[in-house]
Amino acid sequence: MERICLDMPRVSRCNVAECGYNMDNFCHARAITVGGRDRPACDTFFQSDQRAEYDGLAGVGACRVDVCMYNESFECQAPNIVVDHGQDQADCVTFQRR
Ligand code: SF4
Ligand code: SF4
Repeated sequence: MERICLDMPRVSRCNVAECGYNMDNFCHARAITVGGRDRPACDTFFQSDQRAEYDGLAGVGACRVDVCMYNESFECQAPNIVVDHGQDQADCVTFQRR
């Protein structure tokens, strides 16, 4: 039987208001993907005036940034993360290089 993973780290805040998943500084995607291999950009970001209708809060579904101290086997192990403007338009600012 397939197992559904519900224990994703939460996106506790996102200050990228121009993203279509952002409402009131919370992310309303079901899950986001983070990374490039060494850059913690939110790969789910897209600029839009429309807003997603899902009212739950996002988790980190996958993260490819294996140089982050919270990353184990391409999964985020932080309890939660914050996304903000950074080097890229939307970055995981919880990122810490090992
Ligand atoms: S930039 Fe990323 S974390 Fe922020 S609202 Fe958009 S998809 Fe969610
Ligand atoms: S804290 Fe590190 S492992 Fe978690 S999403 Fe951000 S960059 Fe990826």
